Amino acid sequence: MKTVNHWIGGKTVEGASGNYGPVTDPATGEVTTQVALASAEEVDAAVRVAQEAFLSWGQSSLAARTKVLFAYRALLDANRDAIAELIVAEHGKVHSDALGEVARGLEIVELACGITTQLKGELSTSVSNRVDVSSIRQPLGVVAGITPFNFPAMVPMWMFPLAVACGNTFILKPSEKDPSAANKLAELMTEAGLPAGVLNVVHGDKVAVDALLAHPGISAVSFVGSTPIARHIHTTASANGKRVQALGGAKNHMLVLPDADLDAAADAAVSAAYGSAGERCMAISAVVAVGSIADELVEKIRERAEKIKIGPGNDPTSEMGPLITAAHRDKVASYVKGAAAQGADVVLDGTGYTVEGNENGHWIGLSLLDNVRTDSDAYRDEIFGPVLCVLRTETYEEGVALINASPFGNGTAIFTRDGGAARRFQLEIQAGMVGVNVPIPVPVGYHSFGGWKDSLFGDHHIYGNDGIHFYTRGKVVTTRWPDPADAPAGVDLGFPR
Ligand code: NAD
Repeated sequence: MKTVNHWIGGKTVEGASGNYGPVTDPATGEVTTQVALASAEEVDAAVRVAQEAFLSWGQSSLAARTKVLFAYRALLDANRDAIAELIVAEHGKVHSDALGEVARGLEIVELACGITTQLKGELSTSVSNRVDVSSIRQPLGVVAGITPFNFPAMVPMWMFPLAVACGNTFILKPSEKDPSAANKLAELMTEAGLPAGVLNVVHGDKVAVDALLAHPGISAVSFVGSTPIARHIHTTASANGKRVQALGGAKNHMLVLPDADLDAAADAAVSAAYGSAGERCMAISAVVAVGSIADELVEKIRERAEKIKIGPGNDPTSEMGPLITAAHRDKVASYVKGAAAQGADVVLDGTGYTVEGNENGHWIGLSLLDNVRTDSDAYRDEIFGPVLCVLRTETYEEGVALINASPFGNGTAIFTRDGGAARRFQLEIQAGMVGVNVPIPVPVGYHSFGGWKDSLFGDHHIYGNDGIHFYTRGKVVTTRWPDPADAPAGVDLGFPR
């Protein structure tokens, strides 16, 4: 069996706690790998290495940093397939989807390559007699990143490229369910010339996370995962005096107005609900059909969903893979099984699905629930599987009120041909990311990503300008160079005006 160890100080460091977690191939159900789970002492040792590395990396030139990042970009580009294969083997998503997440992560590396212009300070000359004022931004120190299973390469790349470009050193604690991609990303950084100790990967579970949150050597924490854990991370790390951004779960709605192109809306709903088996924080999990179009829209979604081919992620003909664990598959199935009792019409029931030859994989088919009530479990919870709920309203206003009543506020979308309605929606909807005829409005790298309400705790969104702000702190320098010919100013106890 393969063992995934830590990557600390530019090299593999074997787990010392004696604790390991199982990593399963979701397509076969077989445990293929064990991952080291760090103790608090191992976390402490990694933080010390990162603190030591910060002494020089924090002072390094922008030219030195960008040289590494440009080399890293080329290495990632050359290793897209290798990284995607690691993702498929442990996460289960199809290879093309895994390549997509590598591409979206690369986008942030490209943003980091341009850090020279992003970190430019501001200067005001002659604010007073021979006085100049400049604003600069400096790194924080050691930053920790804690990431979820569903994007084992992209979400870490939302964090560490910008953090290290800004001069910080970094400790990544990836999901213990699919840990291999993180090590590959770190190894390639070392190959690109990043000095030892600047980027470290410490594997583990709650023990390692809580040790990071409590460690006085950690200045800031970036977290992406479920809402209950995001809340815990935000509360605990803030109480320990750290800067925190904690991105949580979601229930993303797609409002379809009666004038929308229903074929385009149905295509978008199926792609966004069932892509990556619904295990995306930006997946559409609720369609809100306005007015008389609901029956036709549901029928169009059903027709398309029935044609999706489910199979192992490494089979190029598969469009949707298995779920991450058997326990998660069973939980997802329980929402579908309980839906009718809570008032929904079960249009498609994906429970009990299996793939011939891989019967122990974590399979589930596509489910479509219509007339879902807002007080039902299938609507209230983030299911995080291939289950699409359809809700019906009479008017645009009722649809917006329904979406705004959700405790989540990650992404949302409107499908319409009416520019005025779309404009109203952009302004009235309570979510951090809005799509107009775009079902998964994940911002490009140079715009920041983040939700509202229970989908994000903290002030900063991730990557883009917010990311650079998060990983730096401001300093303002006021300078006077008096002319030697001037008479001394003399003592003045008054407040400077
Ligand atoms: P998770 O919250 O279970 O785990 C995330 C990380 O937290 C992992 O590294 C895990 O080891 C750690 N963790 C888990 N339980 C912990 C505990 N009790 N104490 C301390 N640390 C703990 O999330 P997941 O199941 O890996 O990922 C899926 C979730 O992530 C979904 O809710 C999804 O919406 C969310 N997500 C959100 C975004 C976003 O940008 N908002 C992006 C991707 C995923």
